[in-house]
Amino acid sequence: MIIFDIDLTLIQSIIDGKQVHINSRPYIKELFIYLNHYNIDYAFWSLGSIEYIKYVMNHLSEIIILKPFFILTKKDNLYIDLLSPIQIPIIKVNNIEIKKIYSLFPFYNNLTFENTILIDDNIHHILGNPSKNVYHIKPWCKEENHDRELEILLRRI
Ligand SMILES: [Mg+2]
Repeated sequence: MIIFDIDLTLIQSIIDGKQVHINSRPYIKELFIYLNHYNIDYAFWSLGSIEYIKYVMNHLSEIIILKPFFILTKKDNLYIDLLSPIQIPIIKVNNIEIKKIYSLFPFYNNLTFENTILIDDNIHHILGNPSKNVYHIKPWCKEENHDRELEILLRRI
């Protein structure tokens, strides 16, 4: 299972008054076409709110076919799965919310340390998990038109 962070990993959102503009990272289409084609399991895990992540997913669904296993968003002290009734307590370390991969295992029986990797730009989530279960991707902003990080990732899958 490949678990993707959303903000600055796959997209950058720009808030302009009440409007949210979502910019997609280069090679995002190629990445998900590949994952779908080879039936590679993937999911999303964000500290964004339910409303925000629904908005992002709707936007992305217009440009790519998405078949995630789960979509975790944040509400209060819980991760809320948009695709199931699952709610997972958030683990904090030194008062910082950390995406602990093991915290998902009791809720998704098919996940183990042997088959799960988190792709994230945030160093806290990277350092908070075993190194073999994380992939630290460079944070992306929309000015970086020639960014190839998702293509590089794709070649490693
Ligand atoms: Mg991020």
